[in-house]
Amino acid sequence: MPEGHTLHRLAAQINTVFAGHPWRVSSPQGRFSAGAERLDGQVPQHAEAWGKHLFVHLGPAVWQVHLGLYGAFSFRGDADFAAEATIGAPRAAAVTFEPTYDDDGWLIPEPPKGAVRARVSARHGWADLRGPTTCAVLDPTEYQAVIDRLGPDPLRQVMPGQGESGPQLPAQTDAELRATFLHNLSRRRISIAAALMDQAVIAGVGNIYRAESLFLERLDPYTPSNQLDPERAAALWDRLTEQLRDGVDEGRIRTVRTRGPRRHWVYKHQGTPCQRCGAVIEAAELVGRRLYWCPGCQRD
Ligand SMILES: [Zn+2]
Repeated sequence: MPEGHTLHRLAAQINTVFAGHPWRVSSPQGRFSAGAERLDGQVPQHAEAWGKHLFVHLGPAVWQVHLGLYGAFSFRGDADFAAEATIGAPRAAAVTFEPTYDDDGWLIPEPPKGAVRARVSARHGWADLRGPTTCAVLDPTEYQAVIDRLGPDPLRQVMPGQGESGPQLPAQTDAELRATFLHNLSRRRISIAAALMDQAVIAGVGNIYRAESLFLERLDPYTPSNQLDPERAAALWDRLTEQLRDGVDEGRIRTVRTRGPRRHWVYKHQGTPCQRCGAVIEAAELVGRRLYWCPGCQRD
């Protein structure tokens, strides 16, 4: 599943190629026809991510997308449309095409392939959304209800010299977000590994960042959240923040920071020796997702 860094990259790209100009919206597959009608011809003002949700603001209306396990946006356009080709679940690379334009000077998109839930078009290119878990148009009350259920997102903090992180939401500092994370952990008896996947505790962490951050902080994944030492919990927040930022910068998750082919310390390395202590890395099911950890050095 795309983790939070992917959604922040997606929001940034939508801002780059669509924000500030009217767009055309359709639902070639038909499942989003009514929503597409509400968005068509509007001006997308600002896209933002919160955890694994994308929100595009168009006046009072908000387009909400959650990619889930299989969702992805693919972007195509002419030479004036600078966009990463695919963001989300892996898709086949697009082949080149010869651009043609309609009477208004808009690039004519290729016929949709497969089940395209939503197609959004600008003058120089378009994006196709396939396979999302959620694709909906929210009013301000519904938008507020969604974000009220989400925990702090380490990527939404105010940086020095930077303005608000979203159009309507009060921006918070790293210290404020970290304090909320610690508070959320202190109120849960579930394991820290389960808590990291709970989007109400912290938003944006998925299976890879969970495994890798717990390994690097030497934390036993089965430690109850409310028994975690606050200093260790704060260090875990800082680690996740750093990892998610690297993910935004690099467009992929690479937690092993030295050169070489290995990208992860424990994720999908079960049955092989730990690079830190030599014990055999284990895997187990936990709340429906696979957990990877080293029982040798993740002991407290
Ligand atoms: Zn180890």
